[in-house]
Amino acid sequence: MSILPTNVSRPSIAASDASSPAEEKALEENQQLPCESGPVDSPSGVAASSWTIEQARELYGVRGWGEQYFDINDEGNVAFTAPTESGFKTVSMMDVIDGLHQRDLQMPVMLRIENLIEDRVRQLNSSFRSAIYNARYRGDFRAVFPIKVNQQHHVVDSISRSGRSYGHGMEAGSKAELLVAIVSVPSAESLIVCNGYKDEEFIDLGLQACRLGYKCFFVLETQQELELIIRRSKHFGVKPYIGARVKLATKVEGHWAGDSGDRSLFGLTTVELITAVDTLKSAGMIDCFQMLHYHLGSQVTNILNIRDGLKEACRFYIGLVEDGAPMGYLDLGGGLAVDYAGAASTESHSRNYDLDEYCFDVVETIMNSMDAKNVAHPTIVTESGRWTVAPMSVLMFNVLAVTNFDPEPVPESLPVGSCEGVANLFSTLEKLQLDRLQENYNDAIYYRDQLRDSFRAGAITLRERALGENLYLAIVNRINSMLPQLRRVPAELESLSLSLSDIYYGNFSVFQSLPDAWAIEQVFPVMPLHRLEEKPTRKSIIADLTCDCDGKLDRFSGPDGEVVRTLDLHLIRKDEPYYLGVFLVGAYQETLGDLHNLFGDNNVASIRVAGDGSIVFVEEVPGDTIADVLSYVEYEPPALLARFRSMAEDAVRQKTITVEARQQMVRLFRNSLQGFTYFEE
Ligand SMILES: *Cc1c(COP(=O)(O)O)cnc(C)c1O
Repeated sequence: MSILPTNVSRPSIAASDASSPAEEKALEENQQLPCESGPVDSPSGVAASSWTIEQARELYGVRGWGEQYFDINDEGNVAFTAPTESGFKTVSMMDVIDGLHQRDLQMPVMLRIENLIEDRVRQLNSSFRSAIYNARYRGDFRAVFPIKVNQQHHVVDSISRSGRSYGHGMEAGSKAELLVAIVSVPSAESLIVCNGYKDEEFIDLGLQACRLGYKCFFVLETQQELELIIRRSKHFGVKPYIGARVKLATKVEGHWAGDSGDRSLFGLTTVELITAVDTLKSAGMIDCFQMLHYHLGSQVTNILNIRDGLKEACRFYIGLVEDGAPMGYLDLGGGLAVDYAGAASTESHSRNYDLDEYCFDVVETIMNSMDAKNVAHPTIVTESGRWTVAPMSVLMFNVLAVTNFDPEPVPESLPVGSCEGVANLFSTLEKLQLDRLQENYNDAIYYRDQLRDSFRAGAITLRERALGENLYLAIVNRINSMLPQLRRVPAELESLSLSLSDIYYGNFSVFQSLPDAWAIEQVFPVMPLHRLEEKPTRKSIIADLTCDCDGKLDRFSGPDGEVVRTLDLHLIRKDEPYYLGVFLVGAYQETLGDLHNLFGDNNVASIRVAGDGSIVFVEEVPGDTIADVLSYVEYEPPALLARFRSMAEDAVRQKTITVEARQQMVRLFRNSLQGFTYFEE
């Protein structure tokens, strides 16, 4: 926003209609221009009536990232299609919102759709099974769900339930996750895979799972762990299942490139691996060594990287077999990517392959490598987390207010007695010319800065400055609206539309609910949940409720899988809520979130779609109250209330307030403690 005078922005809470006097005026003004063009962000160009749902689909790229789940229905609402016991059923998100209102669950709400988790579990397993069948691969497939990707009880339970018939297991990276894994694996057919650094207690817990008949693998991350595993398994007289995580030399593209290559933080080097083999041999436990594990990183966008990594891993696997380890399991880790941008490309928020291709390539690569050395086909293990759970969750929130950077109506002629700065800006506005836009822009900035200097020097009044700032805003808005007519837009003017975009204030916290959007500039698809039969006329970015300039969304999935910097939104209407949805947020976001500005957990609703197409509200988890978040930062809410009571009592004794006022205040304070941390309707 650097070029903008901040004092001219005006929050137009619950903004007007498209036909407000200001908009009409803006339209008229544009029509008087020599190079006539409607403002980009007003309902010009395409007449509202010619806007179609198909255009909305294209604008938000729904077809790309929505996969078979999300689309827009004929009423212009986002709808999702879920597999049920009686076939696919489509449900409008607005019906879900109505149902949540009836149950008093306020925005923001993290919606989880159980059918979608089940569908992903089914797809992953059946796609691998058919690749195995078609290739005549002589080995099995076992998925494990990495609990860190979404630890929420309800989610893990859904995976466990829907994965039972496939022997879908769990992956744990800590003791806490291992406890969850042990009680959640659906059957002894399923694997438990333990990654991460393990202390004695971690190992003892895993050994108990083995005693109960579960295949619980310890994947070695370090040399020291092995000594501990040998000692504790001898202590309990339990034979452990041992795997080793190796550092591959293969490097991948994308944000998580650091998980691969020689300098990756995790796994054994080749030298350490050989030492581990020798240690197991001398302990008489080489028969326990059954798994090779590697993890290239999350969101691996390029299938060629996946193939290359796997080829190298297969060579490790074969090497271990040749060295006398029994092996049997090859674990590829995670990395199966989600197409957040809908681009079907190797761009970092996308991927250039789909599930079937992934499964086919994995099976084929392993088979070719093993057959070349006459090694038995291993059981293929994958730890796909992101792919499994991303689509099930949608963050829904309402818009509270909008700030725009539109100018106020400009006077027809220069007011008599205007200062020099205002006069210069006025004539710049009158002289705008399509073939001189860069020059006009330079002039506008020059005169605006001059105006500000005069103001600082005490030479002009506050009102004169406001008049000048408004003229400046009128100039840059008009320049911006003329840019589409240029064959080549000057580089400096390219970002104009971003800096003039509206700010829509959403009732949510990026830090709490979409931490990756802030931490790693992750792109998520965002779009209005309704009014999609109407052309959205405003270019916008989204700000959250925190008072932090990083608390915003300004990268969106756009048309044709392009990542765009502004989102097209509708003018909000007075007294009518406007809802936005952020999609594909089921992976990593819920627990990475933090309490910035003391915004706590949002409300969560788990729903499922029944066979008759009705919505079943399975579970509502209310978000944090203010008392909850205060206790997280070590306040004691009862003590706070007691302190406030006595402050108010002192005021009564000093007669600065009445006892009735005290009663009101104390009630308000007490109710606030029990209230929601977000904006309440
Ligand atoms: C994080 C992680 C995963 C999950 O990766 P996704 O890309 O989400 O599938 C799997 N395995 C290990 C070892 C991990 O650290």
